[in-house]
Amino acid sequence: MDALPEFALLRATTLDEVVKARASHPESRLLGGGTDLIVNIRRGIVAPPVLIDVNHVEELRTVRADARTLEIGAAVKLAELAAHEEVMRHYPVVAQAAGFIAGPTHRNMGTLGGNLCLDTRCLYYNQSEWWRGANNHCLKTTGDVCHVAPKSRGICFATFSGDLAPALLTLNAEVDLAGPGGRRTIALESLYVGYARQDRPITEREGDGKHYLSLRPGEFVTAVRARNTAGLRSAYDKIRIRRSIEYPVTGVAVALRREHNTLADLRVAFTGTNPRPVLLKGTAELCGRPLDAGVLNGLDALVRDQIMSMKTTFTPGHYRRRVAGVLARRLVTRLYAE
Ligand SMILES: Cc1cc2nc3c(=O)[nH]c(=O)nc-3n(C[C@H](O)[C@H](O)[C@H](O)COP(=O)(O)OP(=O)(O)OC[C@H]3O[C@@H](n4cnc5c(N)ncnc54)[C@H](O)[C@@H]3O)c2cc1C
Ligand code: SF4
Repeated sequence: MDALPEFALLRATTLDEVVKARASHPESRLLGGGTDLIVNIRRGIVAPPVLIDVNHVEELRTVRADARTLEIGAAVKLAELAAHEEVMRHYPVVAQAAGFIAGPTHRNMGTLGGNLCLDTRCLYYNQSEWWRGANNHCLKTTGDVCHVAPKSRGICFATFSGDLAPALLTLNAEVDLAGPGGRRTIALESLYVGYARQDRPITEREGDGKHYLSLRPGEFVTAVRARNTAGLRSAYDKIRIRRSIEYPVTGVAVALRREHNTLADLRVAFTGTNPRPVLLKGTAELCGRPLDAGVLNGLDALVRDQIMSMKTTFTPGHYRRRVAGVLARRLVTRLYAE
């Protein structure tokens, strides 16, 4: 096991203190539960000189949930979210996704902010310093080649694997940000820019597994908010290798509305497949009719087109893509029948 390098720890108690600390320490990182960050520091993947602990900022620790709206502060713990009665009742997809993350000890420490801003993952990246060194590192750190796709011409395909993002994407959530440049609110979907896929080049405004968040310098997440839709049914499911404690092979969130015998609304989002969580485009065209084989085949086609898994984990990319389709089908069928 590698030893932790030295870093300074600043314990903020107000949002203002966090913003000021970010402005005076541009190389700093926010510390939520540290369940991902500290692992990466210990492995020499990142070496921030300053960590800003946000767990004592009261403003970031509140959950407000009722039948109309949901608001979750960035420092809210995953365990609290998973067990929150109003979240479970009105936004089951969020509570279920939180309850599926890692193991109980991680959920007691891990936060919403850390989960939404989780670093992307890859077989060649989440390794010790000497392991990565033996492979001459890779594009995501100090190397000049991608071992997953050696002809990728500078693009990294590391995979986004946070479970909460797809759940919140199906609720069309917004995310509140703060930083030295002020505060702003954006659609949660716009936080993620990892559009890279191996079958087409990325545009200037799109990112990859290395540049996967649209945060400006010093900016951080303060809260996420969503509005409920009357009659929306939602759920989360995921396949993982070790069922008690593991990142998703694929995670799927579904929210749908059924009016009599008609599928009135359908939103499906995935994690563990692309360098960003993917909110499937084109599901609105599948609505307005009963859930039949045609709808499910249409869903399969959307998954095949938009889910682009690479060999960034021990499970092959094509397997993860198939699992994504199967999980989505199952969840949509189950929710429609409820
Ligand atoms: C064995 C194991 C299994 C795991 N399984 C899963 C899993 O199944 N699903 C899953 O989603 N995750 C999993 N994780 C990863 C991790 O535990 C969770 O994602 C957790 O929610 C991360 O939250 P945290 O508060 O601990 O983040 P931290 O480690 O504190 O931070 C993660 C990153 O987010 C940044 N950050 C933190 N807060 C903010 C903020 N407010 N604004 C902007 N940036 C911020 C940090 O600077 C850092 O870059 C696993 C980890 C381990 C070790
Ligand atoms: S996808 Fe390629 S560049 Fe990205 S972390 Fe993996 S090996 Fe490195």
